[in-house]
Amino acid sequence: MTTHCCETMTNRVNPRCDEHDDPFACPDALVDFSARFQEYGLIVHDGGTSSITIDFCPWCGRRLPESQRDRWFEELERRGIDPGEDELPAEFQNARRPARLHQK
Ligand SMILES: [Zn+2]
Ligand SMILES: [Zn+2]
Repeated sequence: MTTHCCETMTNRVNPRCDEHDDPFACPDALVDFSARFQEYGLIVHDGGTSSITIDFCPWCGRRLPESQRDRWFEELERRGIDPGEDELPAEFQNARRPARLHQK
């Protein structure tokens, strides 16, 4: 269980919604947290799964943890794993969802 910067953020990244399992499908969900990359993103509700990465918490203003995206790919490369082809070891899996691309 990841500790977030404040209670509001914790509530926002773990939305309790009975209707939608996927936060990208839920109009009330605002923030997506990627456990594998340690990234926070504002969900773009355009029917897809894109989000805009944020560096600061919109509620408490604290700087969010540094993205582990580069480290994640470096570590996979070091082990000779191709994330597009090979099955990922458990520690690289984001428990909830398969990988997706962040659109710029
Ligand atoms: Zn919902
Ligand atoms: Zn916060």
